[in-house]
Amino acid sequence: MDTSQLAKFYKKDFQEKIQALLDAGVISKEDSQALLNESLNLEKGIGNHMIENYIGNYSLPFGLAMNFLIDDKEVVVPMAIEEPSVIAAASFAAKIISSGGGFSTAVTERTMIGQVTLKNVPNIDEAVKSVKIRTEAILQRANEAHPSIVKRGGGAKDIEIRVLDEETPTYLTIHVHVDTQEAMGANIVNTMMEGIAPYLEEVTGGTALLRILSNYTTECMATATCTIPVRKLATGDYSGEVVRDRIIEATQVARIDPYRAVTHNKGVMNGVDAVVIATGNDWRAVSAASHAYASRSGQYRSLTKWDKNDAGDLVGTLTLPMPVGAVGGSISIHPGAKLAHKILGQPTAKELERIIVSVGLAQNFAAVRALITDGIQKGHMGLHARSLAISAGATGEQVQQVADQLKKAPHMNLATAKEILEQL
Ligand code: NDP
Repeated sequence: MDTSQLAKFYKKDFQEKIQALLDAGVISKEDSQALLNESLNLEKGIGNHMIENYIGNYSLPFGLAMNFLIDDKEVVVPMAIEEPSVIAAASFAAKIISSGGGFSTAVTERTMIGQVTLKNVPNIDEAVKSVKIRTEAILQRANEAHPSIVKRGGGAKDIEIRVLDEETPTYLTIHVHVDTQEAMGANIVNTMMEGIAPYLEEVTGGTALLRILSNYTTECMATATCTIPVRKLATGDYSGEVVRDRIIEATQVARIDPYRAVTHNKGVMNGVDAVVIATGNDWRAVSAASHAYASRSGQYRSLTKWDKNDAGDLVGTLTLPMPVGAVGGSISIHPGAKLAHKILGQPTAKELERIIVSVGLAQNFAAVRALITDGIQKGHMGLHARSLAISAGATGEQVQQVADQLKKAPHMNLATAKEILEQL
Protein backbone atom coordinates (compact mmCIF):
# COMPACT_ATOMS: atom_id res chain seq x y z
CA MET A 1 0.00 0.00 0.00
CA ASP A 2 1.36 3.41 -0.97
CA THR A 3 -0.38 5.80 1.41
CA SER A 4 1.38 8.85 -0.07
CA GLN A 5 -1.34 8.65 -2.76
CA LEU A 6 -3.91 9.27 -0.04
CA ALA A 7 -2.54 12.62 1.19
CA LYS A 8 -5.29 15.23 1.64
CA PHE A 9 -7.86 12.55 0.81
CA TYR A 10 -10.66 14.68 2.28
CA LYS A 11 -10.00 17.41 -0.27
CA LYS A 12 -10.52 15.14 -3.26
CA ASP A 13 -13.85 14.83 -5.03
CA PHE A 14 -15.62 11.45 -5.17
CA GLN A 15 -13.97 10.26 -8.42
CA GLU A 16 -10.53 11.43 -7.28
CA LYS A 17 -10.95 9.57 -4.02
CA ILE A 18 -11.68 6.30 -5.82
CA GLN A 19 -8.73 6.86 -8.18
CA ALA A 20 -6.41 7.61 -5.23
CA LEU A 21 -7.48 4.39 -3.50
CA LEU A 22 -6.79 2.47 -6.69
CA ASP A 23 -3.39 4.15 -7.15
CA ALA A 24 -2.49 3.50 -3.53
CA GLY A 25 -3.32 -0.19 -3.93
CA VAL A 26 -6.08 -0.05 -1.30
CA ILE A 27 -8.76 -1.30 -3.71
CA SER A 28 -8.76 -3.27 -6.95
CA LYS A 29 -9.99 -2.09 -10.34
CA GLU A 30 -13.10 -4.20 -9.86
CA ASP A 31 -13.78 -2.60 -6.45
CA SER A 32 -13.30 0.87 -7.91
CA GLN A 33 -15.91 0.09 -10.57
CA ALA A 34 -18.30 -1.16 -7.88
CA LEU A 35 -17.83 2.04 -5.90
CA LEU A 36 -18.27 4.24 -8.98
CA ASN A 37 -21.46 2.34 -9.82
CA GLU A 38 -22.66 2.68 -6.23
CA SER A 39 -23.09 -1.08 -6.14
CA LEU A 40 -22.28 -1.69 -2.48
CA ASN A 41 -25.92 -2.38 -1.78
CA LEU A 42 -27.27 -5.80 -1.00
CA GLU A 43 -29.11 -7.51 -3.80
CA LYS A 44 -32.81 -7.95 -3.08
CA GLY A 45 -32.51 -11.71 -3.42
CA ILE A 46 -29.86 -11.80 -0.69
CA GLY A 47 -31.50 -9.33 1.69
CA ASN A 48 -34.71 -11.28 1.43
CA HIS A 49 -32.92 -14.35 2.81
CA MET A 50 -31.10 -12.49 5.59
CA ILE A 51 -34.07 -11.21 7.58
CA GLU A 52 -37.81 -11.69 7.80
CA ASN A 53 -40.44 -9.41 6.23
CA TYR A 54 -37.73 -7.79 4.08
CA ILE A 55 -38.88 -4.75 2.08
CA GLY A 56 -35.60 -3.13 0.97
CA ASN A 57 -32.15 -1.95 1.99
CA TYR A 58 -31.38 0.80 4.47
CA SER A 59 -27.99 2.27 3.63
CA LEU A 60 -25.43 4.09 5.73
CA PRO A 61 -22.60 6.32 4.49
CA PHE A 62 -19.39 4.29 4.07
CA GLY A 63 -16.11 6.18 4.50
CA LEU A 64 -12.45 5.67 5.30
CA ALA A 65 -10.44 6.87 8.28
CA MET A 66 -6.84 7.67 7.38
CA ASN A 67 -3.46 7.92 9.12
CA PHE A 68 -3.74 4.82 11.31
CA LEU A 69 -0.44 3.22 12.26
CA ILE A 70 -1.22 0.06 14.24
CA ASP A 71 1.61 -2.17 15.44
CA ASP A 72 3.89 -0.46 12.89
CA LYS A 73 1.53 -1.16 10.01
CA GLU A 74 -0.35 1.50 8.06
CA VAL A 75 -4.08 0.82 7.95
CA VAL A 76 -6.91 2.50 6.03
CA VAL A 77 -10.00 1.94 8.16
CA PRO A 78 -13.49 1.51 6.67
CA MET A 79 -16.30 2.98 8.75
CA ALA A 80 -20.07 2.86 8.21
CA ILE A 81 -21.75 5.66 10.12
CA GLU A 82 -24.38 8.36 9.68
CA GLU A 83 -22.90 10.82 12.19
CA PRO A 84 -20.85 13.73 10.81
CA SER A 85 -17.35 14.43 12.20
CA VAL A 86 -16.59 10.90 13.39
CA ILE A 87 -14.36 9.90 10.48
CA ALA A 88 -12.66 13.31 10.39
CA ALA A 89 -12.00 13.10 14.14
CA ALA A 90 -10.62 9.54 13.90
CA SER A 91 -8.29 10.53 11.05
CA PHE A 92 -7.14 13.65 12.88
CA ALA A 93 -6.45 11.72 16.10
CA ALA A 94 -4.70 8.92 14.22
CA LYS A 95 -2.38 11.46 12.59
CA ILE A 96 -1.28 12.91 15.94
CA ILE A 97 -1.00 9.44 17.48
CA SER A 98 1.02 8.16 14.50
CA SER A 99 3.52 10.96 15.07
CA GLY A 100 4.24 9.38 18.46
CA GLY A 101 4.70 5.88 17.02
CA GLY A 102 1.08 4.88 16.53
CA PHE A 103 -0.95 2.28 18.41
CA SER A 104 0.43 -0.80 20.13
CA THR A 105 -2.09 -3.54 20.68
CA ALA A 106 -2.49 -6.79 22.56
CA VAL A 107 -5.22 -9.42 22.30
CA THR A 108 -6.11 -12.42 24.43
CA GLU A 109 -6.92 -15.84 23.02
CA ARG A 110 -10.29 -15.78 21.27
CA THR A 111 -12.39 -17.78 23.70
CA MET A 112 -16.16 -17.41 23.70
CA ILE A 113 -18.31 -18.44 26.64
CA GLY A 114 -21.42 -20.59 26.32
CA GLN A 115 -23.88 -20.94 29.19
CA VAL A 116 -26.32 -23.64 30.18
CA THR A 117 -28.40 -22.53 33.16
CA LEU A 118 -30.28 -25.23 35.05
CA LYS A 119 -33.19 -24.79 37.44
CA ASN A 120 -34.76 -27.18 39.96
CA VAL A 121 -31.45 -28.89 40.68
CA PRO A 122 -32.29 -31.15 43.65
CA ASN A 123 -28.85 -31.01 45.33
CA ILE A 124 -26.58 -28.21 44.16
CA ASP A 125 -23.44 -29.45 45.96
CA GLU A 126 -23.80 -32.94 44.51
CA ALA A 127 -24.54 -31.52 41.08
CA VAL A 128 -21.39 -29.37 41.17
CA LYS A 129 -19.28 -32.43 42.00
CA SER A 130 -21.03 -34.49 39.38
CA VAL A 131 -20.42 -31.90 36.65
CA LYS A 132 -16.80 -31.40 37.67
CA ILE A 133 -15.86 -35.08 37.35
CA ARG A 134 -17.56 -35.20 33.95
CA THR A 135 -15.67 -32.23 32.47
CA GLU A 136 -14.13 -34.28 29.66
CA ALA A 137 -17.45 -35.91 28.75
CA ILE A 138 -19.15 -32.48 28.61
CA LEU A 139 -16.41 -31.05 26.38
CA GLN A 140 -16.59 -34.12 24.14
CA ARG A 141 -20.36 -33.75 23.75
CA ALA A 142 -20.00 -30.02 23.01
CA ASN A 143 -17.47 -30.78 20.30
CA GLU A 144 -19.61 -33.55 18.85
CA ALA A 145 -22.40 -31.00 18.47
CA HIS A 146 -20.17 -28.85 16.17
CA PRO A 147 -17.37 -31.10 14.88
CA SER A 148 -16.28 -28.79 12.03
CA ILE A 149 -14.86 -26.19 14.42
CA VAL A 150 -12.74 -28.91 16.03
CA LYS A 151 -11.38 -29.85 12.58
CA ARG A 152 -10.42 -26.19 12.17
CA GLY A 153 -8.33 -26.36 15.35
CA GLY A 154 -10.92 -24.88 17.73
CA GLY A 155 -13.70 -26.28 19.87
CA ALA A 156 -14.77 -26.53 23.50
CA LYS A 157 -11.71 -26.33 25.76
CA ASP A 158 -12.80 -25.96 29.36
CA ILE A 159 -15.74 -25.57 31.70
CA GLU A 160 -16.53 -23.39 34.70
CA ILE A 161 -19.29 -24.07 37.22
CA ARG A 162 -21.22 -21.20 38.78
CA VAL A 163 -23.88 -21.37 41.48
CA LEU A 164 -26.26 -18.42 41.16
CA ASP A 165 -27.62 -18.12 44.70
CA GLU A 166 -28.09 -14.39 45.07
CA GLU A 167 -31.84 -14.95 45.00
CA THR A 168 -34.14 -17.90 45.57
CA PRO A 169 -34.38 -20.28 43.76
CA THR A 170 -30.74 -21.16 43.19
CA TYR A 171 -29.65 -21.77 39.60
CA LEU A 172 -26.68 -23.76 38.42
CA THR A 173 -24.85 -22.34 35.40
CA ILE A 174 -22.24 -24.26 33.47
CA HIS A 175 -19.90 -22.15 31.31
CA VAL A 176 -18.16 -23.77 28.39
CA HIS A 177 -15.12 -21.98 26.96
CA VAL A 178 -15.00 -22.37 23.20
CA ASP A 179 -12.25 -21.49 20.76
CA THR A 180 -14.24 -20.32 17.74
CA GLN A 181 -11.17 -19.62 15.57
CA GLU A 182 -11.96 -16.94 12.97
CA ALA A 183 -15.71 -16.76 13.68
CA MET A 184 -17.49 -14.60 16.25
CA GLY A 185 -19.04 -17.91 17.12
CA ALA A 186 -22.56 -17.18 18.38
CA ASN A 187 -24.11 -19.91 16.28
CA ILE A 188 -21.28 -22.34 16.94
CA VAL A 189 -21.57 -21.86 20.71
CA ASN A 190 -25.37 -21.91 20.72
CA THR A 191 -25.36 -25.22 18.85
CA MET A 192 -22.94 -26.64 21.41
CA MET A 193 -25.01 -25.43 24.38
CA GLU A 194 -28.17 -26.97 22.96
CA GLY A 195 -26.15 -30.12 22.30
CA ILE A 196 -24.92 -30.57 25.90
CA ALA A 197 -28.06 -29.44 27.75
CA PRO A 198 -29.76 -32.89 27.87
CA TYR A 199 -26.57 -34.47 29.28
CA LEU A 200 -26.28 -31.73 31.92
CA GLU A 201 -29.92 -32.32 32.90
CA GLU A 202 -29.12 -36.01 33.31
CA VAL A 203 -25.98 -35.35 35.34
CA THR A 204 -27.48 -32.72 37.66
CA GLY A 205 -31.13 -33.82 37.86
CA GLY A 206 -32.09 -30.25 36.96
CA THR A 207 -33.94 -28.71 34.04
CA ALA A 208 -32.15 -26.59 31.44
CA LEU A 209 -33.69 -23.11 31.37
CA LEU A 210 -31.20 -21.26 29.12
CA ARG A 211 -28.75 -22.55 26.49
CA ILE A 212 -26.88 -19.77 24.71
CA LEU A 213 -23.54 -17.94 24.49
CA SER A 214 -22.78 -15.11 26.89
CA ASN A 215 -22.31 -11.80 25.13
CA TYR A 216 -20.09 -10.73 28.04
CA THR A 217 -16.97 -11.98 26.26
CA THR A 218 -14.42 -11.48 29.01
CA GLU A 219 -12.18 -14.18 27.50
CA CYS A 220 -11.88 -12.33 24.18
CA MET A 221 -10.33 -8.96 24.96
CA ALA A 222 -8.35 -6.40 22.96
CA THR A 223 -6.20 -3.53 24.23
CA ALA A 224 -4.73 -0.54 22.39
CA THR A 225 -2.24 1.90 23.86
CA CYS A 226 -0.64 5.02 22.46
CA THR A 227 1.87 7.61 23.59
CA ILE A 228 1.41 11.14 22.31
CA PRO A 229 4.37 13.52 22.61
CA VAL A 230 3.26 16.44 24.78
CA ARG A 231 4.50 18.99 22.20
CA LYS A 232 2.04 17.55 19.67
CA LEU A 233 -0.87 18.43 21.95
CA ALA A 234 -0.46 22.23 21.86
CA THR A 235 -3.32 23.99 20.09
CA GLY A 236 -4.43 27.62 19.91
CA ASP A 237 -3.90 29.24 23.28
CA TYR A 238 -3.40 25.90 25.01
CA SER A 239 0.08 24.55 25.67
CA GLY A 240 0.72 20.81 25.25
CA GLU A 241 1.00 20.42 29.03
CA VAL A 242 -2.37 22.07 29.61
CA VAL A 243 -4.10 19.94 26.97
CA ARG A 244 -2.49 16.79 28.41
CA ASP A 245 -3.52 17.60 31.97
CA ARG A 246 -7.05 18.54 30.97
CA ILE A 247 -7.45 15.25 29.04
CA ILE A 248 -6.29 13.35 32.14
CA GLU A 249 -8.70 15.33 34.36
CA ALA A 250 -11.61 14.88 31.97
CA THR A 251 -11.02 11.13 32.00
CA GLN A 252 -10.93 11.18 35.82
CA VAL A 253 -14.36 12.80 35.77
CA ALA A 254 -15.60 10.08 33.41
CA ARG A 255 -14.19 7.48 35.82
CA ILE A 256 -16.13 8.77 38.80
CA ASP A 257 -19.33 10.17 37.23
CA PRO A 258 -21.57 7.76 35.29
CA TYR A 259 -23.40 10.69 33.66
CA ARG A 260 -20.15 11.78 32.08
CA ALA A 261 -18.87 8.22 31.58
CA VAL A 262 -21.76 7.27 29.31
CA THR A 263 -21.06 10.22 27.00
CA HIS A 264 -17.31 9.55 27.13
CA ASN A 265 -17.87 5.92 26.17
CA LYS A 266 -20.42 6.82 23.51
CA GLY A 267 -17.53 8.65 21.85
CA VAL A 268 -15.43 5.49 22.00
CA MET A 269 -18.30 3.50 20.46
CA ASN A 270 -18.67 6.05 17.62
CA GLY A 271 -15.45 4.62 16.25
CA VAL A 272 -15.83 1.03 17.40
CA ASP A 273 -19.38 0.53 16.10
CA ALA A 274 -18.63 2.18 12.75
CA VAL A 275 -15.85 -0.31 12.01
CA VAL A 276 -17.81 -3.23 13.46
CA ILE A 277 -20.74 -2.35 11.16
CA ALA A 278 -18.52 -1.74 8.12
CA THR A 279 -16.90 -5.15 8.55
CA GLY A 280 -20.26 -6.95 8.77
CA ASN A 281 -19.93 -7.79 12.43
CA ASP A 282 -22.56 -7.82 15.17
CA TRP A 283 -22.38 -4.35 16.72
CA ARG A 284 -25.08 -5.13 19.30
CA ALA A 285 -22.79 -7.84 20.66
CA VAL A 286 -19.74 -5.56 20.81
CA SER A 287 -21.73 -2.69 22.34
CA ALA A 288 -23.44 -4.87 24.96
CA ALA A 289 -20.10 -6.39 25.98
CA SER A 290 -18.33 -3.02 26.08
CA HIS A 291 -20.91 -1.34 28.31
CA ALA A 292 -21.00 -4.33 30.64
CA TYR A 293 -17.21 -4.16 30.86
CA ALA A 294 -17.45 -0.45 31.71
CA SER A 295 -19.56 -1.48 34.73
CA ARG A 296 -17.29 -4.28 35.95
CA SER A 297 -16.42 -2.46 39.21
CA GLY A 298 -20.11 -2.16 40.07
CA GLN A 299 -20.27 1.40 38.72
CA TYR A 300 -20.37 2.47 35.07
CA ARG A 301 -16.99 4.13 34.34
CA SER A 302 -14.78 5.45 31.56
CA LEU A 303 -13.51 2.73 29.23
CA THR A 304 -10.33 4.64 28.41
CA LYS A 305 -7.46 5.69 30.67
CA TRP A 306 -5.25 8.69 29.99
CA ASP A 307 -2.13 9.36 32.03
CA LYS A 308 1.31 10.89 31.63
CA ASN A 309 4.60 9.00 31.54
CA ASP A 310 7.95 10.03 33.06
CA ALA A 311 8.77 12.09 29.97
CA GLY A 312 5.54 14.06 30.43
CA ASP A 313 3.91 12.56 27.33
CA LEU A 314 0.27 11.55 27.24
CA VAL A 315 -0.38 7.80 27.40
CA GLY A 316 -3.78 6.38 26.48
CA THR A 317 -5.16 2.86 26.93
CA LEU A 318 -8.40 1.21 25.92
CA THR A 319 -9.37 -2.38 26.67
CA LEU A 320 -12.59 -3.82 25.29
CA PRO A 321 -14.25 -7.18 24.90
CA MET A 322 -14.07 -7.71 21.15
CA PRO A 323 -16.27 -10.55 19.87
CA VAL A 324 -15.79 -9.99 16.15
CA GLY A 325 -15.10 -12.44 13.37
CA ALA A 326 -13.30 -12.54 10.06
CA VAL A 327 -15.84 -15.09 8.78
CA GLY A 328 -19.48 -15.93 9.43
CA GLY A 329 -22.66 -13.91 9.81
CA SER A 330 -23.05 -11.41 6.95
CA ILE A 331 -19.31 -10.96 6.38
CA SER A 332 -19.11 -12.96 3.17
CA ILE A 333 -22.57 -11.90 1.99
CA HIS A 334 -22.75 -8.11 2.27
CA PRO A 335 -20.89 -6.29 -0.54
CA GLY A 336 -19.91 -3.44 1.83
CA ALA A 337 -18.55 -5.86 4.42
CA LYS A 338 -16.65 -7.76 1.74
CA LEU A 339 -15.05 -4.53 0.49
CA ALA A 340 -14.23 -3.46 4.06
CA HIS A 341 -12.32 -6.71 4.65
CA LYS A 342 -10.48 -6.24 1.33
CA ILE A 343 -9.52 -2.67 2.24
CA LEU A 344 -8.16 -3.93 5.55
CA GLY A 345 -6.13 -6.60 3.72
CA GLN A 346 -8.33 -9.56 4.77
CA PRO A 347 -7.38 -9.35 8.46
CA THR A 348 -7.67 -12.30 10.80
CA ALA A 349 -10.19 -11.92 13.61
CA LYS A 350 -7.38 -10.98 16.02
CA GLU A 351 -6.04 -8.36 13.60
CA LEU A 352 -9.53 -6.93 13.26
CA GLU A 353 -9.82 -6.72 17.05
CA ARG A 354 -6.55 -4.76 17.16
CA ILE A 355 -7.80 -2.31 14.53
CA ILE A 356 -11.19 -1.73 16.15
CA VAL A 357 -9.86 -1.08 19.64
CA SER A 358 -7.30 1.37 18.19
CA VAL A 359 -10.07 3.28 16.42
CA GLY A 360 -12.00 3.46 19.70
CA LEU A 361 -8.98 4.97 21.45
CA ALA A 362 -8.39 7.46 18.63
CA GLN A 363 -12.02 8.52 18.67
CA ASN A 364 -11.94 9.10 22.42
CA PHE A 365 -8.76 11.16 22.17
CA ALA A 366 -10.26 13.38 19.46
CA ALA A 367 -13.51 13.92 21.34
CA VAL A 368 -11.94 14.68 24.73
CA ARG A 369 -9.29 16.92 23.17
CA ALA A 370 -11.99 18.93 21.40
CA LEU A 371 -14.11 19.10 24.55
CA ILE A 372 -11.35 20.46 26.76
CA THR A 373 -10.16 23.02 24.18
CA ASP A 374 -12.43 24.62 21.56
CA GLY A 375 -15.52 22.62 22.46
CA ILE A 376 -17.09 19.99 20.28
CA GLN A 377 -19.53 22.14 18.35
CA LYS A 378 -16.96 24.04 16.30
CA GLY A 379 -16.02 20.96 14.31
CA HIS A 380 -19.52 19.50 14.35
CA MET A 381 -21.39 22.52 13.06
CA GLY A 382 -19.74 22.64 9.63
CA LEU A 383 -20.91 19.12 8.91
CA HIS A 384 -24.23 19.68 10.63
CA ALA A 385 -24.76 22.65 8.30
CA ARG A 386 -24.33 20.34 5.32
CA SER A 387 -26.85 17.88 6.75
CA LEU A 388 -29.33 20.72 7.24
CA ALA A 389 -28.72 21.93 3.69
CA ILE A 390 -29.49 18.43 2.35
CA SER A 391 -32.60 18.19 4.58
CA ALA A 392 -33.75 21.55 3.17
CA GLY A 393 -33.56 20.09 -0.34
CA ALA A 394 -30.14 21.34 -1.54
CA THR A 395 -28.41 19.15 -4.11
CA GLY A 396 -24.97 19.11 -5.76
CA GLU A 397 -23.03 22.34 -5.32
CA GLN A 398 -25.96 23.96 -3.53
CA VAL A 399 -25.17 21.85 -0.45
CA GLN A 400 -21.87 23.61 0.26
CA GLN A 401 -23.28 27.03 -0.72
CA VAL A 402 -26.19 26.69 1.69
CA ALA A 403 -23.92 25.28 4.40
CA ASP A 404 -21.45 28.18 4.09
CA GLN A 405 -24.20 30.78 4.48
CA LEU A 406 -25.86 28.79 7.24
CA LYS A 407 -22.67 28.85 9.32
CA LYS A 408 -22.75 32.65 9.24
CA ALA A 409 -26.48 32.91 9.99
CA PRO A 410 -27.63 33.86 13.53
CA HIS A 411 -29.73 30.64 13.78
CA MET A 412 -28.45 27.43 12.26
CA ASN A 413 -31.63 25.46 11.72
CA LEU A 414 -33.76 23.87 9.02
CA ALA A 415 -35.95 26.96 8.51
CA THR A 416 -32.89 29.14 7.87
CA ALA A 417 -31.46 26.51 5.52
CA LYS A 418 -34.71 26.54 3.52
CA GLU A 419 -34.70 30.38 3.36
CA ILE A 420 -31.10 30.39 2.10
CA LEU A 421 -31.91 27.73 -0.50
CA GLU A 422 -34.90 29.72 -1.76
CA GLN A 423 -32.75 32.84 -2.11
CA LEU A 424 -30.18 30.84 -4.07
P1 NDP B 1 -21.83 -18.47 11.50
O1 NDP B 1 -23.01 -19.14 12.00
O2 NDP B 1 -21.90 -17.87 10.15
O3 NDP B 1 -20.65 -19.53 11.65
C1 NDP B 1 -19.39 -19.32 11.19
C2 NDP B 1 -19.04 -20.49 10.32
O4 NDP B 1 -18.00 -20.15 9.45
C3 NDP B 1 -18.49 -21.65 11.13
O5 NDP B 1 -19.52 -22.43 11.67
C4 NDP B 1 -17.66 -22.39 10.11
O6 NDP B 1 -18.49 -23.34 9.48
C5 NDP B 1 -17.33 -21.32 9.06
N1 NDP B 1 -15.89 -21.05 9.01
C6 NDP B 1 -15.18 -20.96 7.88
N2 NDP B 1 -13.89 -20.69 8.17
C7 NDP B 1 -13.78 -20.62 9.50
C8 NDP B 1 -12.70 -20.36 10.39
N3 NDP B 1 -11.46 -20.16 9.94
N4 NDP B 1 -12.96 -20.29 11.71
C9 NDP B 1 -14.20 -20.48 12.18
N5 NDP B 1 -15.26 -20.76 11.39
C10 NDP B 1 -15.06 -20.83 10.05
O7 NDP B 1 -21.32 -17.33 12.46
P2 NDP B 1 -21.02 -17.34 13.98
O8 NDP B 1 -21.15 -18.67 14.64
O9 NDP B 1 -19.73 -16.65 14.11
O10 NDP B 1 -22.20 -16.46 14.56
C11 NDP B 1 -22.22 -15.08 14.33
C12 NDP B 1 -23.61 -14.68 13.93
O11 NDP B 1 -24.54 -15.08 14.94
C13 NDP B 1 -23.75 -13.19 13.82
O12 NDP B 1 -24.43 -12.91 12.62
C14 NDP B 1 -24.62 -12.82 15.02
O13 NDP B 1 -25.36 -11.66 14.76
C15 NDP B 1 -25.48 -14.03 15.19
N6 NDP B 1 -26.05 -14.30 16.49
C16 NDP B 1 -25.70 -13.62 17.63
C17 NDP B 1 -26.26 -13.92 18.84
C18 NDP B 1 -25.79 -13.20 20.05
O14 NDP B 1 -24.82 -12.46 19.96
N7 NDP B 1 -26.39 -13.37 21.21
C19 NDP B 1 -27.27 -14.98 18.97
C20 NDP B 1 -27.54 -15.66 17.72
C21 NDP B 1 -26.96 -15.32 16.54
P3 NDP B 1 -17.99 -24.80 9.10
O15 NDP B 1 -16.83 -25.14 10.01
O16 NDP B 1 -19.16 -25.67 9.32
O17 NDP B 1 -17.57 -24.69 7.68
